[in-house]
Amino acid sequence: MSGASHPSIDTLLIHAGEPQPRIRGAVAMPIFQSSTFEFGGDVGYHDIRYIRLNNTPNHEALHAKLAALERTETSLVTSSGMAAISAALLTLLSPGDHFLAHRALYGGTHDLVTGELKRFGIEHSFVDTANPATWEAARRPNTKLFYCETLTNPLMEVGDLPAVSAFAKRHGLVSMIDNTFASPFNFRPAEHGFDLMLHSGTKYLNGHNDIVCGVVAGTRTHVDAIRKTLNHYGGSLDPHACFLLHRGLKTLAVRMRHQNESALTVARWLSQHPAVETVNHPFLPQHPHHARAKQLLAGCGGMLSVELRGGLPAARSFVERVQLAVHAPSLGGPETLVILPALSSHAGMQADERRRAGIADGLVRISIGLEDSNDVIADFKQALD
Ligand code: PLP
Repeated sequence: MSGASHPSIDTLLIHAGEPQPRIRGAVAMPIFQSSTFEFGGDVGYHDIRYIRLNNTPNHEALHAKLAALERTETSLVTSSGMAAISAALLTLLSPGDHFLAHRALYGGTHDLVTGELKRFGIEHSFVDTANPATWEAARRPNTKLFYCETLTNPLMEVGDLPAVSAFAKRHGLVSMIDNTFASPFNFRPAEHGFDLMLHSGTKYLNGHNDIVCGVVAGTRTHVDAIRKTLNHYGGSLDPHACFLLHRGLKTLAVRMRHQNESALTVARWLSQHPAVETVNHPFLPQHPHHARAKQLLAGCGGMLSVELRGGLPAARSFVERVQLAVHAPSLGGPETLVILPALSSHAGMQADERRRAGIADGLVRISIGLEDSNDVIADFKQALD
């Protein structure tokens, strides 16, 4: 990309990674719907131009754009967020290894860690990323990696992230962070010393609730190794999905600004409502990680959760009564979505395990979309009243 050496993220979203010269003058990135490409003197298996090897022009443009956004050497798009997470962990960990992970992970990652990885002889210890004093006791001689999430689901915790990357560096561990909830608009972990960033691109990066995709970003050495694992497991992103992700990314900044502001407006309103026990949004002063969130994040995106007075029946009634919002899983898209973690993302946990993790039965997770926040508030008001 030509122009200023440090353009703002708004400009990078539009121009970084775009083919130069433009392909036959096309202003938008065209779709290269060809599974294979003419042999071009490729030197090895991973260089053959083939969709599964994630190296068509659509992949390459995205890799350059996403690396510019995350301020990393390179990046890799994958067929889902879980493809990114599993390929990364399976590349960097081997049987007999151990790693540290935040105690409240996205449900799919939690299952991967406690199920598949354990089956392959990879051990883990869950730690609280907000409490650095406890990490050393959990570290073992075979600890290789520290895994965390920027904002946790559904309580919106913000761990001591700079301390995580510093601890990892001090002990020769790879620091890995799932940056899905923040997106590079709100937080760029590489600027805080993290080695590898992971995304469910399905959420804010694409932002339209219409594809599933993932991203790994980081140093060339790490990402190249993960790319080879992904090539073997087959988790590449289809060119049409690449096109949609590419298009979605261009509006990330305008969407995030709206969602940052709108979710905070809704969170403030909810915290005044008599039917609401607690609102979890890190930019509300009562959130336990408020100071750290303000220091690290440009905004918290569209996510928040609320615990309703009246437990599960009240929460169930709320999700049944909303009219504008949709009762559906996932997040980060234009439509406001509501979901009950106890009956969905965290249903696999034992009830007491869930309670210990702070996930009450009456908790509702909300992903604020791109509607006018006044209309969302009016919808929530009629559902609560
Ligand atoms: N990471 C986080 C924080 C998520 O919320 C999700 C999905 O909800 C994933 C990873 C998995 O992403 P995908 O559904 O794209 O595989």
